[in-house]
Amino acid sequence: MIYFTSTRNQNMKTSFDEALLNGLSPDGGLYVPTRNPYPDQIFYSSNYLETAQNILIPFIHKYPNTEHIIREAFPFSPKLVNMYENLWVLELFHGPSHSFKDYGVSFLAAVLDQKATENNIEITVLTATSGDTGSAVARAFHGKTNLRAVVLFPAGRISEIQRRQITTLGGNIVPVEVAGSFDDCQRMVKKAFNDREVADNLVLTSANSINIGRFLPQLTYYAYAVGLLHDMKIDPVFAVPSGNFGNLAAGLFAWFWGLPVKHFIAATNANDTIPLYLKTGNYQPKPSVQTISNAMDVGDPSNFERIKFLFQDTSLSLSANVSGTSVNDENTLKTIKEIYEKTNYVADPHTAVGLKAAIDYQKASDDPVVVLSTAHPGKFPDTVKEATGRDIELPENLRRLRFLNESSVNIENTYGALKVFLLNI
Ligand SMILES: *Cc1c(COP(=O)(O)O)cnc(C)c1O
Repeated sequence: MIYFTSTRNQNMKTSFDEALLNGLSPDGGLYVPTRNPYPDQIFYSSNYLETAQNILIPFIHKYPNTEHIIREAFPFSPKLVNMYENLWVLELFHGPSHSFKDYGVSFLAAVLDQKATENNIEITVLTATSGDTGSAVARAFHGKTNLRAVVLFPAGRISEIQRRQITTLGGNIVPVEVAGSFDDCQRMVKKAFNDREVADNLVLTSANSINIGRFLPQLTYYAYAVGLLHDMKIDPVFAVPSGNFGNLAAGLFAWFWGLPVKHFIAATNANDTIPLYLKTGNYQPKPSVQTISNAMDVGDPSNFERIKFLFQDTSLSLSANVSGTSVNDENTLKTIKEIYEKTNYVADPHTAVGLKAAIDYQKASDDPVVVLSTAHPGKFPDTVKEATGRDIELPENLRRLRFLNESSVNIENTYGALKVFLLNI
């Protein structure tokens, strides 16, 4: 059995199920496994589903139908695309909401569904979103009879496509439009989790990216990419477009547990807290600044605590194995344009941040690099058009959204308003 401990107190020991429902450890730390789940050898192969099953089964093996759960969670898979010679893009946007967040959220929904059904309870997921998380949650939870998702989003501050992804499903998806900012939404959600009265009424959990149910499935595609390249005798470098650093943290855990990876590149936009930390050793959180790769606008990334935990008490050096690059908006646009002109490939702005970091890395190295592509370019049509002059087609399920009816609950920007709503759903 794999247990979990807290990054802030290693005497603590928690089961997978409890960590899943708690989200955050009661001491404020993040959950991490107490030991290497793959004592023999971490599995990697060129078959995605087989890789996902082998990586995730150690955590859920006591559930009935484990293989079924994983097959249900991943009806989509990553695609490895060669740009030129030594540069690849690993497309992680073929899931229902077209961002890599589908991997984490889909697995989270599948295991919560199993737990709710087994215990005959209804579980409510409460989440605040600045866009991508909410749309992934809405799609993954929709139609699951024992689960309900309450998604708070700031009125007028998420893109139209993102809003429609959340508001057009209905049923067990409950969109709540808050007359405030994303930070206001997040504050309200935090208060709800600490409110006894709410806890007495609902089995509440969070779909936040620190939840281990979202964290663990992110190991699977690193192992799959390594499996694909292994036949060519390549141990790749991974360049990871990063914001809250859950994605990179997962890659580092996989490597720590034996996945053959040569090096990692932490690619950020102008929110450069981690690249600066890697250079100076000084962690200086700052308020986030707005960029064209807005899902990465994070000034104080919460998953970084897992990365620091991984390297503490080891002789391994974080800065020797991870390099950081910050890419501004101007260079992001330039990279979309240059890659398009050179290869005909259209990258979204988040992927372009990773591509730029990879291209800079390869100026001084022949190492093969795989850039994680975190979003479909069709989600950012204006930016892509500005860079390439080209109109980009939306994926079919996003194009259809325009013709569907929207519905959401509007509440004012106070915790009281959310509480009244939660006590009456
Ligand atoms: C969330 C997100 C990221 C950042 O991922 P982290 O795990 O928070 O570092 C990057 N790109 C896209 C498109 C995202 O939605």
